Amino acid sequence: MADMPAPCLTAEEFQRRLLTWFDQYGRHDLPWQSPRSAYRVWVSEIMLQQTQVTTVIPYFKRFMARFPTLEALANAPQDDVLHLWTGLGYYARARNLHKAAQVALEDHDGELPADSIEALMTLPGIGRSTAGAIVAQSSGQQAAILDGNVKRSLTRLHAVSGWPGKPAIERSLWALAEYYTPDTRLADYTQAIMDFGATLCKRGKPDCLICPFNDVCRAYAQGEPQRFPESKPKKTLPTRETIMLMLRDRQGRVWLEQRPPSGLWGGLWSLPQFERHGELNDWLADHVVSPERHAPLPSFTHTFSHFRLSITPQPVNCDRLSGVREDGVWYDVNDPPALGLAAPVKSLLSQLATFTLDPTPGPSR
Ligand code: SF4
Repeated sequence: MADMPAPCLTAEEFQRRLLTWFDQYGRHDLPWQSPRSAYRVWVSEIMLQQTQVTTVIPYFKRFMARFPTLEALANAPQDDVLHLWTGLGYYARARNLHKAAQVALEDHDGELPADSIEALMTLPGIGRSTAGAIVAQSSGQQAAILDGNVKRSLTRLHAVSGWPGKPAIERSLWALAEYYTPDTRLADYTQAIMDFGATLCKRGKPDCLICPFNDVCRAYAQGEPQRFPESKPKKTLPTRETIMLMLRDRQGRVWLEQRPPSGLWGGLWSLPQFERHGELNDWLADHVVSPERHAPLPSFTHTFSHFRLSITPQPVNCDRLSGVREDGVWYDVNDPPALGLAAPVKSLLSQLATFTLDPTPGPSR
């Protein structure tokens, strides 16, 4: 613990204040809290990465209704899993969840190894903090967590400078997280430290005046708690361009193709994409009977963590595809099949009914 900042309180006093606050103001009726099985805690923890509790709750309930057990999840087709994830984003989480369920079914007799952080961390998509949350909440064994909310609170309480994603800073925050973690009431403590960051020591505007730690918080003492944690050093995101073909048959159905299993939108269903109009024209000439091209719809940008994608939707109506293609489906927006959709595609499909197509042909090259 050589690189741990000086704690702002003894561990016992920190726990006492936090749990007293939690008993009164924490969240006690979240759907994954009863029953609090390792499987349900795990699914909730994966959904909660990058996503707020209020958004997650309806997704969690639908997911549990369809996949009540780890075995049900492991045995489901990937399309069913991605379909229930549509709209939550970060789809690698869903693919990893599905894969991890299959590994647990095979290697751990259908159970999550919920008493071992090391064993949990061998499963796809489970990092140290998620493993800690599963162990602490489902088995009650001592295990620390360090999700985004906990990082923010600890950084402010101890006025830790620098971006918390830096390995040295992350190590010092882990040391603090472990120092404060009690050996009793583990499930409550874990929920408490997450709730504290999510509802009181909030990203935008921490409620310092009613905070049980405001007499010892170093960021508050410095007068600028929002200055912590420091942001990741900025790099400019490159922009890539793509044309999305909105190919509709005479019944108004839209042609969708499945993305390769890994990589961008892996395993999700998407509109066919082209870098240039020339490639699109070749594809239409090869695969489509009587294409009738309309003016492109306005371009919009979808931002990923490492680049921006400028998307230009290109509507084309047609009689049918020539020949049989097995790599896609005709998607009926009025009777949609259960498929996982890439977010911009979902949004384009939902707007489809409102489009008035301009009959002016768009650029052909
Ligand atoms: S005093 Fe403010 S900044 Fe410090 S821990 Fe409490 S809410 Fe967060």
